[in-house]
Amino acid sequence: MSLHIETPLLASRPLSLASGLDIWLKLDALQPSGSFKLRGIGAACQAYAQQGKRRFISSSGGNAGIAVAYAGRCLGLAVTVVVPETTTERAKQLIRQEHAEVIVHGKAWHEANALALSMLGEDDAYIHPFDDPLLWQGHASMIDEVAAKGFSPDAVVVAVGGGGLLSGVCEGLARNGWGQVPVFAVETAGAASLAAAMAQRQLIALETVNTVATSLAAKQVCQRAFQWSQARPVYSHVVSDQAALDACEQFLLDQRILVEPACGAALALAYAPTAALKQYQKVLVIVCGGVTATLDQIRQWRAAC
Ligand SMILES: *Cc1c(COP(=O)(O)O)cnc(C)c1O
Repeated sequence: MSLHIETPLLASRPLSLASGLDIWLKLDALQPSGSFKLRGIGAACQAYAQQGKRRFISSSGGNAGIAVAYAGRCLGLAVTVVVPETTTERAKQLIRQEHAEVIVHGKAWHEANALALSMLGEDDAYIHPFDDPLLWQGHASMIDEVAAKGFSPDAVVVAVGGGGLLSGVCEGLARNGWGQVPVFAVETAGAASLAAAMAQRQLIALETVNTVATSLAAKQVCQRAFQWSQARPVYSHVVSDQAALDACEQFLLDQRILVEPACGAALALAYAPTAALKQYQKVLVIVCGGVTATLDQIRQWRAAC
């Protein structure tokens, strides 16, 4: 049995009226860990458990770390999450709530990650937040569910951080015979690593990332995400932090679901479609969710924008 749940697929009246399109929402914000990450990470953790691993190690202070902690608790295996000092109290609390061990180390993520890697023993599995074929396969299940409902999208809108979600969505589209259905890949301006790679037609690393959409803050997308962008229709779109935050607030009002700015980035395009997106009618928006931003935090960021 999988650790993730099948999530609702619903037509959104408010988003359809705002955009003039038929907007359908795949509500992965409703996964028990609060984001789509549980699909891939749950599948990866199950596979590693079957290989005999006894402990999972993660260095994500975000939704990936929370998903690993959730998966470990469900599987009855130990979880250690090493996070940098910058990680919010809320994120640490959400990880501890799953009975995972939290170790705070280093000023930035790469220091936490280095310690996490150094701790790896024989019986441990390191769970990468986005760059693992097991994750992409697991994420692809969201598209299988859409297909099983008999719904076929004309276009798909998805947020991009390290590109694990994009890779999973593309894999899911491919395995359901939708390899030519265009994917609109959305990033915030301060973390537009896919946009940069696509513009230069090669995988490149940004020097810095700076965005309120912390779950999108990867300096470089994984190779697989870049490959997909070159091998099938993928359109890169960049929104401002402000637009992502506004979309979070509007979505809360419209659908009564609070999501992170990372997810707000994708919603921002759905609320205000570009001419390119307007060529399509039935648009599937992946509501990837995210639990690390409170409403207070989102409102503070908005006020500061
Ligand atoms: C991780 C995450 C993303 C980005 O996913 P990637 O696989 O890193 O591209 C987007 N939204 C939320 C809420 C996330 O947790």
